Amino acid sequence: MKSRIYVANWKMNMPLDGALELTKQCKKLMAHQDNKEKQIVLCPTFPALYPIAKLLQSTPIGIGAQNCSEHEMGAYTGEVSAQSLSQVGCTYCIVGHSERRNYFHETNEIIARKVGKLFGAAINPIICIGETAKEHKDNKTLQALEQQLDPIINVINNAEQCSDELYIAYEPVWAIGTGKVPDKATLQTTFNWLHAHVQSALQPAKSVYLLYGGSVDEHTVKDIAEVQYIDGFLVGGASLDFQKFKNIVSLA
Ligand code: PEP
Repeated sequence: MKSRIYVANWKMNMPLDGALELTKQCKKLMAHQDNKEKQIVLCPTFPALYPIAKLLQSTPIGIGAQNCSEHEMGAYTGEVSAQSLSQVGCTYCIVGHSERRNYFHETNEIIARKVGKLFGAAINPIICIGETAKEHKDNKTLQALEQQLDPIINVINNAEQCSDELYIAYEPVWAIGTGKVPDKATLQTTFNWLHAHVQSALQPAKSVYLLYGGSVDEHTVKDIAEVQYIDGFLVGGASLDFQKFKNIVSLA
């Protein structure tokens, strides 16, 4: 694993031409000596995955999907399997993003099944978890995280095949796209808990990396990076603007 990982989640905000342009800029950025120790992963929409994988051939930049099917194959119109993602060059896949939990009613169990399919296709899952504004207000953050994580940890512990690396992205729902970020002390408490929980609940020999996501930009990233156990960032809005993304990568 490189010193830090920066995952760009472009959501449905970047059409193919813009995605290719941004990819070319990121390719130049990562060719720079200063960034050799850093890992970036670009997560475009499904149709952009294959052309971007071609553009990034023989570069260390990772390619991630934003979602995958919980099924292997079959009559599931509109779904995309983990195996197809692997065939177009994906080595990462975001699962359980709060937008999928909210708008597409994905449960922890569905997300756990997706993780299982990704393992089968040798794709590293980037598993998103995070509390709602109400849970945050009621001081139920750690409880919410445990409820989301445990079904997934169970799948991982029982999986015959497991990917080499596992990424857990803590994204407070109330921080996504709002400009709000938890204060440093609160973030540290959460990451201390996450680190300890993952260490004790996950069977050994898995490489687990903890990411933070939610309003990461060039103004917030330095403070967030000081929190112990944060191995990288999941960046939404600020990853759509090359200059902002570049600043994030160089500042933290
Ligand atoms: C996200 O949606 O994963 C995200 C982190 O968004 P933003 O950076 O825009 O808050």
